[in-house]
Amino acid sequence: ATPMSIMVATGRGAQAGVLIRDAEALERFAGVDVLIVDKTGTLTEGRPSLTDTVAVGDLDASQVLALAAALERGSEHPLAEAILAAADAEGASVLDVTDFEAITGKGVRGTVDGTQVALGNPALMLDLGLSVDDVSERLEALQTEGKTAMLLARGEQVVGIVAVADRIKETTADAIKSLHKAGLKIVMATGDSRRTADAVARQLGIDEVHADISPEDKGRLVADYKSRGLSVAMAGDGVNDAPALATADVGIAMGTGADVAVESAGVTLVKGDLIGILRARHLAQATMRNIR
Ligand code: ADP
Ligand code: MG
Repeated sequence: ATPMSIMVATGRGAQAGVLIRDAEALERFAGVDVLIVDKTGTLTEGRPSLTDTVAVGDLDASQVLALAAALERGSEHPLAEAILAAADAEGASVLDVTDFEAITGKGVRGTVDGTQVALGNPALMLDLGLSVDDVSERLEALQTEGKTAMLLARGEQVVGIVAVADRIKETTADAIKSLHKAGLKIVMATGDSRRTADAVARQLGIDEVHADISPEDKGRLVADYKSRGLSVAMAGDGVNDAPALATADVGIAMGTGADVAVESAGVTLVKGDLIGILRARHLAQATMRNIR
């Protein structure tokens, strides 16, 4: 690649909101076979809002929401924002929490009025030794709608479910169609549940889904594809995605996300939707064709 053609390409990219770090990233991008994408914030808006509050024990729905919000006040997760916004809008009572703890990839816990309270996924409930049998049917119904559902435990019992939904970005479906036409395989990697992930993937025609996985698993997934001789691009927005972005042949940071993501990436999309990936791909291939 001549320095001149690379400069022209990166300049054009920048105008279109696609920041390409160097000649190497551009060259690698032209040959990518597989695109692995994070769900939340990459395929979806990343701004979930509360859709359901279900009370299953002695509490009513507003008490469930108040307890959930009390715990989330200590969290910086996008899920926390959704719950807090809804609680504020409803004027839910504000409760004091002590012994707060955030458990990465699982949820939050603490003590309210001398009783242990926790909010998170079934794995968290299992860690606490609580059965989710009584609520699993309702949980699964919400997940099948593509919602992220969290369980609320108080003492020894699961007393509620709160669910949030995150809209798929307007441009995602078309971008995936075009990326498919360009010959790329599209794989989703998410920490969310299998059912929720499948529901979103089905709407978009995603080829393969890896759900319920940790940030380290996302990195391993990328490495696994590479070891099969495939060239891999990974697109993500979060702190969560940094290991996978750094492992990929081309890491693509969705510009709206965390700084860590941007630092780990060879390509940054200023606008943060998948259309940018399509643009970058065309640009990379056109540049490489002119060179050879
Ligand atoms: P993602 O890959 O979608 O960013 P995470 O790894 O952050 O997902 O979290 C995985 C799951 O753990 C979430 O879907 C949720 O069920 C649970 N969880 C994580 N953080 C929280 C929180 N602050 N409050 C409630 N649930 C949480
Ligand atoms: Mg994310």
